Amino acid sequence: MKIITTPDPRLREKSEKVRVIDDDILKTINNMRQLSLDWEKEHPYELSAAMAAPQIGVNKRIIIVRDDMEDKGKATFTALINPEIIRAEGKIKTDYEGCLSVPAIYGMVPRATKVRVKAKLEDGTEVRIKATDELARTLLHEIDHLDGILFIDHIKDKKDAFYEMNDKGDLEPLDYDKHIAHNKTLFPDD
Ligand SMILES: [Zn+2]
Repeated sequence: MKIITTPDPRLREKSEKVRVIDDDILKTINNMRQLSLDWEKEHPYELSAAMAAPQIGVNKRIIIVRDDMEDKGKATFTALINPEIIRAEGKIKTDYEGCLSVPAIYGMVPRATKVRVKAKLEDGTEVRIKATDELARTLLHEIDHLDGILFIDHIKDKKDAFYEMNDKGDLEPLDYDKHIAHNKTLFPDD
């Protein structure tokens, strides 16, 4: 198993609900954890904050979210099964987003700053999560993956919205006409 990237069609499918949390599902979750950490080893300036199952080619409604988004040394993730947005509110904030499946590109994406999510944990316990800011953004990004939506889809005004990371780990603006406008990997239908 590996992380798949655009324009792989599996990233654009609607994922199925998990009916039973069996060994296959638990194995998928552990593969997601492992592949997130493998990716991070190759990206010294970035933290793997979360991942959705379609990103490893499994179209099931599962996401994992890093428990500590600041400290790379704390590499544990909570899995959320069948996560649902109950409510998205608060003011809309536009901020940087990247995605393991959209390599080397970052974008400015508007998102709600407060969300309520319900989901199941690996042991079947139902949980309700109230999240704000960075965690709200992460949950919205990952749950989008389960419906075949990528962060680039939310960028309406594309001109000054895209960035790349230089080899020092800083984000630099990407020239829209040169790098984005004709990029069929990102926008096959444009
Ligand atoms: Zn993503």
